Amino acid sequence: MTAAYKIIDHVYDAVVVGAGGSGLRATMGIAESGLKTACITKVFPTRSHTVAAQGGIAASLGNMGPDHWTWHMYDTVKGSDWLGDQDAIEYLCREAPAAVYELEHAGVPFSRTEEGKIYQRPFGGMMQNMGEGPPAQRTCAAADRTGHAMLHALYQQSLKYDADFFVEYFALDLIMENGACRGVIALCMEDGSIHRFRSHAVVLATGGCGRVYQSATSAHTCTGDGGGMVLRAGLPLQDMEFVQFHPTGIYGAGVLITEGARGEGGYLTNSEGERFMERYAPSAKDLASRDVVSRSMAMEIREGRGVGKEKDHIYLHLDHIDPKVLHERLPGITETGKVFAGVDLTRQPLPVVPTVHYNMGGIPCNYHGEVVTLKDGNPDSVVPGLFAVGEAACVSVHGANRLGSNSLIDLVVFGRATGHRIAEIVKPGTAHQPLPKGSEEFALGRLDHFRQAKGGTPTARIRDAMQKTMQKHCAVFRTDELMAEGIARMDEVYRSMGDIAVTDRSLIWNTDLIETLELDNLVSQALVTINGARNRKESRGAHMHEDYPERHDDQWMKHTIAWFDGWGGRGGATSIDYRPVHDYTLTDEVEYIKPKKRVY
Ligand SMILES: Cc1cc2nc3c(=O)[nH]c(=O)nc-3n(C[C@H](O)[C@H](O)[C@H](O)COP(=O)(O)OP(=O)(O)OC[C@H]3O[C@@H](n4cnc5c(N)ncnc54)[C@H](O)[C@@H]3O)c2cc1C
Repeated sequence: MTAAYKIIDHVYDAVVVGAGGSGLRATMGIAESGLKTACITKVFPTRSHTVAAQGGIAASLGNMGPDHWTWHMYDTVKGSDWLGDQDAIEYLCREAPAAVYELEHAGVPFSRTEEGKIYQRPFGGMMQNMGEGPPAQRTCAAADRTGHAMLHALYQQSLKYDADFFVEYFALDLIMENGACRGVIALCMEDGSIHRFRSHAVVLATGGCGRVYQSATSAHTCTGDGGGMVLRAGLPLQDMEFVQFHPTGIYGAGVLITEGARGEGGYLTNSEGERFMERYAPSAKDLASRDVVSRSMAMEIREGRGVGKEKDHIYLHLDHIDPKVLHERLPGITETGKVFAGVDLTRQPLPVVPTVHYNMGGIPCNYHGEVVTLKDGNPDSVVPGLFAVGEAACVSVHGANRLGSNSLIDLVVFGRATGHRIAEIVKPGTAHQPLPKGSEEFALGRLDHFRQAKGGTPTARIRDAMQKTMQKHCAVFRTDELMAEGIARMDEVYRSMGDIAVTDRSLIWNTDLIETLELDNLVSQALVTINGARNRKESRGAHMHEDYPERHDDQWMKHTIAWFDGWGGRGGATSIDYRPVHDYTLTDEVEYIKPKKRVY
């Protein structure tokens, strides 16, 4: 069967899958160290979802007032609701300023203060003085197009180094041998050729899986392909039940309005015109962390104080802000408001609703980017040859809830760290062992299965059923009953994968086939997400379990790790275990931040 596919072999020291902010930063670093490097990406690098990031990138530069990396660390630990690993969080916050200056030198056109320093705006949950306040202005921005500026600068820089780009290649599966990663198999979408990459290190930088849900701010390409590959390789994903809803997605369209809008003074109102966040978060108000604001909005809607005909959304006001400031600091969202909500936001409020935005969970790894798993009782057992960075990874610095502007900084800090680690482990010219016989069989068997699928249910119908189920049964508020019902429905959705219909059998730009492979990746992650959610009998960060409204540190201050058995409708069991949260810091310069109640 597999003989029908033309296989082209490649040998590299390192292969990065993904060319978003994290993948490009990793590629640059690895190539710079003299290793032979390839970067595989299913979309042109500058089309990666990072391009859509608006609000900014967090680092304690202290350009607009006092700040310190330990304050940033405190806020990130608190934001994570004490599920983040404090050694990794220390690393992130300590390295952040240098990473931002590096971006500046790479050509990112940051907005400036009068004196010419990098401009910084306040963002949710970012405070001075170890959480005491007042708010810290910590988020560096290039107007409201920070990700766009970053991605273009990183792509231009990466061309300077001698890395090979495989653009519009779709990675199918990892090549695993005796628990180690040996390479990756990819499909060239243009001509259908199969490419087998043999490599000492594979870095998964494939982004999040927001498209598990019906309404998401993320691009349609955010299908968590790396997570899907990891599950099929028999490795677990971590903390997938923690899904961030951004408070301000445009009602109906799902398009994001950056938190920077509230950072610049925007506020939310209900049908009574009340600034209700003052009730829920008396001190941080509209700039409380995202889970808190999203939940408060959902409460208002539930209690009948939503706006609009259906009373099912909330207003975001920017109409009191000087149009000149809007033009300068938020030009993109002024346009977005016009196009997607038909609103002139200098005069009218924007209709917004909490919308899926970010996966705190992902491929478990340490702060060197090395993928880890629970093996022989060791929860930090490194999977040789496999690395993960960016939204695909769970380091875990975001724990149960990510603070706004902490993802972009995560991409560059850990993209860089991963490059360093690989340069340490792999020396240029290290000999390659032959691959195991039939190393392509698993990937090609699955590819061919879907390509020839003659069932009765179109891919789009199954995807729709998955997205609606997850949106209804695993969203901002969760109950045992709702999730049990959701799991039963998701099991049905999964079984319907066995009856999938693919109509295009060609290998030239077969989008029907690619969408099906993506759906298969999404479905396994949806199941791991909802099973993890039902299993966690507490409320923490983005996971609000109404039957267990309190956080329970004694029992639940631990990472969920979940395996999934099967693909394409076969098998389908999720199994769950745990890894301890790292309750230690990296150095003696900062003390472990002890858990306390999280109020804003
Ligand atoms: C609208 C929006 C606004 C945001 N704003 C901010 C912000 O202001 N500040 C902040 O900190 N965070 C923000 N975030 C979050 C942040 O932008 C993302 O988490 C981050 O950009 C993800 O980067 P990444 O490198 O992990 O992956 P991505 O940028 O998503 O890139 C994924 C890459 O993987 C490749 N890929 C995926 N699957 C395959 C496959 N099978 N084969 C080959 N290649 C593959 C893709 O081609 C792509 O290059 C925002 C997110 C969204 C959606």
